[in-house]
Amino acid sequence: MVTTPLTCLNYIDGEWLAAKSQAILESRNPADWREVIATFPSSGAEDVDAAVMAASKAYHNWRLTPAPARAEFIYRIGEILLQRKEELAYLMSQEMGKPLAEARGDVQEGIDCAIYSAGEGRRMFGQTTPSEMPNKFAMTVRSPVGVCALITPWNFPVAIPCWKMMPALVCGNTVILKPAKDTPACATLLVEIFQQAGLPNGLVNLVHGHGDEVGQALIEHPGINLVSFTGSSQTGAEVGATCGRTFKRVCLELGGKNAQIVMDDADLELALEGAIWGAFGTTGQRCTATSRLILHRDIKEKFTAMLLDKTRKLRLGKGTESDTEVGPLVNKSQLERVSYYLEVAHNEGAKVLIGGKVCTDEQLKHGFFFEPTILNHVTPDMRVAREEIFGPVVTLIEVSSFEEAIKVLNDTPYGLSSSVYTSDVNRAFQAMRDIEAGITYINGPTIGAEVHLPFGGVKQTGNGHREAGSAAIDVFTEWKTVYVDF
Ligand code: GLU
Repeated sequence: MVTTPLTCLNYIDGEWLAAKSQAILESRNPADWREVIATFPSSGAEDVDAAVMAASKAYHNWRLTPAPARAEFIYRIGEILLQRKEELAYLMSQEMGKPLAEARGDVQEGIDCAIYSAGEGRRMFGQTTPSEMPNKFAMTVRSPVGVCALITPWNFPVAIPCWKMMPALVCGNTVILKPAKDTPACATLLVEIFQQAGLPNGLVNLVHGHGDEVGQALIEHPGINLVSFTGSSQTGAEVGATCGRTFKRVCLELGGKNAQIVMDDADLELALEGAIWGAFGTTGQRCTATSRLILHRDIKEKFTAMLLDKTRKLRLGKGTESDTEVGPLVNKSQLERVSYYLEVAHNEGAKVLIGGKVCTDEQLKHGFFFEPTILNHVTPDMRVAREEIFGPVVTLIEVSSFEEAIKVLNDTPYGLSSSVYTSDVNRAFQAMRDIEAGITYINGPTIGAEVHLPFGGVKQTGNGHREAGSAAIDVFTEWKTVYVDF
């Protein structure tokens, strides 16, 4: 296991370095804020310059390395991730609070992503097409984009950096990772694992610090060709605007206000399992979390009683304790944000059925624990039904028909994930067709995306790009059209 507090440094051109500024930041255990997990540098524009220079230099060789050879390197990272899975999962649980079982799942996603991305190294197909002219071939090939800035969140501190770094590298790009301030230790260990796999200098660079300093310097830097950002829609809009002004390719993975519909013909036990996992898994801190339950009026009362019973039994606790089902929120400002939305709910006339407050358990008083919360009497126009809360809060909305359910589900500014529980195959297909979201689950929760399929959404959830699967190859390569006369 990693000994904490860990001293994290930047990683630039194959060296672990302090930042130019002397300022040092800390990440703390959200289950007990007295415990420092890591210290890390507050980097600035000069550190970004050095990282961009290293990544640009490394790009010249890496882009010429055959894709199957690049893939072998990614595969080796997967092997080491598997060997060090427990160590990384435990550190993640300490640093951002998710229960160990979920943290293992997070690392497993990184491993799966390595295996998938390595396969893509042998599949980076182009196209050939008949030319209009005789004695001429027309074709397309994929080329890398260049130096990529990858700005990642704290809720999936291993999976999401892997979603971005692995396809970027297999496509021949070099990268600069700017991890979230809450999870510098996870990012450091991950880069150490890349190093252990034989990382060439400059291929992956790590710069820690504040988003509005180091993140801003990255997105404005003329040496960056592509920015891939996962975070809030508000910040994403600014990132997108800056990239537009500076002609960078930008991939935005933003917020969600995901709904699960439960119809009158649904298997209620199955729907219950999905709702609990979707709403309270990762303490509701997933962009795919279920924050609205759209319930048919004929099953609402029964389903709500089942939901309350199950929620009451959820064990809140430290992520590192094996019987914990719901961990803390990641930091104080998340706790304040969720508390604020409870005030909003109250003022809007929603009714708290369970939870609704900061946990008062004596054992947990040094952590950012909020009780799993169910809000009833919510209507689609309320802020709590429209805005992303990012916590263990689920709203109940009653509907009278399937058509109304779909209409309510679509009535938000976001469009990431969605779910419908029904035993009617016609309704299932209608939902697949009519739901405005990037992901639809039939008889499954809104969470649990797999790495070999596109991940992303519509409306304010993003800008039309997708992560994961072969869609990630489209993000991290440029098409080059080639005509050969002979
Ligand atoms: N792994 C998540 C899922 O369950 C997606 C990432 C996220 O929610 O931030 O679908």
